This record gives sequence, C-alpha cells and structure tokens, in this order.
Amino acid sequence: MQLIDIGVNFHSKQLAGHTDAILARARKAGVATILATGTSLGASNKAVALADSHRQVYATAGVHPHDASQWGASTAVAMQALWQNPKVVAIGECGLDYNRMFSPREAQRVAFEAQLAGALSTGLPLFLHCRDAFDDFHAMLREASQAGARGVVHCMTGTLDEALAYLALGFDIGVTGWVTDLARGKDLRTAVEQIPLDRLHLETDAPYLRPKTAPKGEGFNEPAFLPYVATEIALLRGDVTADEVAAACTANSARLFGLPPMAGEDSRSRYG
Ligand SMILES: [Zn+2]
Repeated sequence: MQLIDIGVNFHSKQLAGHTDAILARARKAGVATILATGTSLGASNKAVALADSHRQVYATAGVHPHDASQWGASTAVAMQALWQNPKVVAIGECGLDYNRMFSPREAQRVAFEAQLAGALSTGLPLFLHCRDAFDDFHAMLREASQAGARGVVHCMTGTLDEALAYLALGFDIGVTGWVTDLARGKDLRTAVEQIPLDRLHLETDAPYLRPKTAPKGEGFNEPAFLPYVATEIALLRGDVTADEVAAACTANSARLFGLPPMAGEDSRSRYG
C-alpha cells in the first residue's frame, strides 16, 4: 500500500534540515508521496523548493490565518507566481482561525477571500484550515463552492455536523493523529465513522499531532507515522481494514490534487 501524506510542515524548526532522513523513513513506512505545507510566503517558498528537488514531494502555497496580516499586494503577486509551478498542487494552507488570533479577523477574511479567488482563477484545489470560526468560514466556502471551488478541510477537529456541512459543499476532510486522542479527538472520532470513505484524506500535520498510538520517542510527529492514522480510522469504523482506508484515501488524494499514478500494483484503489 502506498500512502499519501497531504500535510507536512517541513519548514518547522523540528523538521528543518532533516528532510532526507524523514523521507527515507516515510518511504519505508509506505508513505510514497508527501505534500509540503506552505503557511506563509517564506514557508511556501521553502515547500516549493523542496518539491522542486524531490520527486515524491509536492507543495501547497498559501498564507495561513495566523500569518494573514502579511497578505498584501506583493504577497499576492508572489503567490500568483508560485501557483503556476507544476509541483504546487493546492492553494493554502488558508482559512480562518479565531482560536489564537495571531492576525485580526478582518485581515484573516481578506487573505482568505483572496486565496479563494486564486483557487477559482487557477483551478487549483484548496488546503483549508478552520479553528473556532465555523460560521464565517462556512459562509465564505459556500460562496466559493457555488463558483466551483473544491478542496480539503485539513486537520478536521470540528463536530460531525460541521464535517457534514463541508461534505455537502463538496469539500473533503483531512484526518490527522488528532483522531487517536480520546479526549480532544472525541468529536472527530464520532465524525470519521460517518464520513464517506471516498471523501477522506490522511495527513500527519508533522511535526505536530504525533498519534497517541505511535511508539514513544523523540516526541515530534513525522510522515512515517501516517499508518497509525489509517489504522485508527479503520478501528473506529469497524467495516473496513486499515489497508482499505489507506487505499481509498490514496485514491482520493491522487484525484483531488492531480498527482500522477504511483509505482506499485496497489497504487489504485478499488474505491477509486
Ligand atoms: Zn492547520
């Protein structure tokens, strides 16, 4: 089984400088393809450079709500250029985060609106983030979806009702090691039982959210731990094996992000 990790923060201080070792451990664990997350102009440039120099790495390019204050004319121009790069397969990480408020709400909405417009003009899918901002986020997504936008709400932490609302707009759901957290992950654990298998994606969000079920170690998360997410989803659903979850998610991610077929006889899912 070949897995796709749709969210890794290679620019983080925990992972920076360890790319080759991380990619080697990922490959050994069956994680064949990785999307490097761009969360700011600087991080997006790094993600794209990494994708340009590693065949199995692709990039997202965008500005996270935490960094939304940096959005302006020059950032917009630089992003437009990054979005033309063939290894950039999504716009984001973008969205709204009213939990930590590192950027004011209005700045977050301006940056998000511009990136939604970018998705519509380029045809790229969105890599979306929402925390404690459901009403505004959903309203903006609804408008974009009516205009044809698509994408994945990454690192789902909301309720089943919120997940169903995203699905109804045509957006997929990304699941991280949050699903292995019995306390914080309670809502997500309920939701993954109900989300159709053809709408799920797997991600580590490394170095964050190391699965509780992964072996104890240095503490931070990495793509090699992605199989623990698939295993937990299979256990919670009860109607599928971890391999079936992995195969479905791989097919979903390859389809959404337009990734080339991977080597290996298992690269295409029977659910595809
Ligand atoms: Zn996020």
